[in-house]
Amino acid sequence: MILFLCVLAKASFAAGFTLHQLADGIYATERTEPAGLMFDANNVFIINEADVIVVDSNISPDSSKEVLAALRKLTNKPVRYVINTHWHEDHILGNSVWRDAYPGVEFIGHVQTHDDLTTTGASNRKSLLESGADGVASLREAIRSKVGLAGTPLTEEERISHESDIFLVERYLKEAGALPIIEPDIALDSELVLQRGQRRIDIRFLGAAHTRSDLVVWLPNEKILIAGDLLVWPIPLVGSTSYPAAYAETLKKLSALPATSIVPGHGPVFHDDHYLRQMIVLLDGLTAQVKAAKARGETLEQAAKSVDLSALRQPFVGDSILLKIIFNMYVKSSGIAAAYQEAAAPVK
Ligand SMILES: [Zn+2]
Repeated sequence: MILFLCVLAKASFAAGFTLHQLADGIYATERTEPAGLMFDANNVFIINEADVIVVDSNISPDSSKEVLAALRKLTNKPVRYVINTHWHEDHILGNSVWRDAYPGVEFIGHVQTHDDLTTTGASNRKSLLESGADGVASLREAIRSKVGLAGTPLTEEERISHESDIFLVERYLKEAGALPIIEPDIALDSELVLQRGQRRIDIRFLGAAHTRSDLVVWLPNEKILIAGDLLVWPIPLVGSTSYPAAYAETLKKLSALPATSIVPGHGPVFHDDHYLRQMIVLLDGLTAQVKAAKARGETLEQAAKSVDLSALRQPFVGDSILLKIIFNMYVKSSGIAAAYQEAAAPVK
């Protein structure tokens, strides 16, 4: 029988995580920050007979130190591997915490990670470090003036989200500039299987999606799927480094796995594939419209105006101004551009 154990780990304006036991020895940290423009990642602990495997680190060393403290309350076994599902800052920046705590730890990632970390990843870090203070200032101004980013009266949902974003960005800015980039010690391009006693841990690359190198972790005996940012709730992250057409196909492969628990990169643990299918509908719809626009000879600027995602957006945002802002930023503007680019040069 699976016990779902939920423990509140930290409660200041809901920053932190709750710890959920998904199976014997397997725990997910589920972030409690509200939806926002800045993110911290869920983690998973896979506690084996003699060692521990951790999936993903966090947006800041401080955050990973809290996750490490939670693990140490569960076990004194050493962490042998940290699997980074992809190279985005919120999944890797706490890596040094795990290395400092467990000198024997090795990092597992996709073979593309080296290239991505040292090119796009490095420039993303630079621009976030340069623009972070201005971003915080504009969120503070929205709170002070009570006028939201969309120019409408600030809702309570927006205010709470902005407070959380300010906290996460300031935590990030405090240390990110001085942190080394930790690359994978072990890299895979399709599949790596770890066997720990009776436990089998499949690390797989199923195709380009949220990035060109997202890994998922599949525990076939426990039927637990750790999806990284292939699955992000409440608003998917279809950013500039995504491939929306391939993304939909990769999610279809994910939905074929008989998972009973699915841990997203951000959001609550799911126990069915309803949300995953909602994402497929969105990505298929986005891709079809952008392809049609391109076939009509439209430029990206023209496509950005002609593509209408309002019906596809509705199941994700409802009547929330905040979620609409997040959707427009992380699906509409960046997703249309990514799909347009992909239509011109499909990912191999
Ligand atoms: Zn990501």
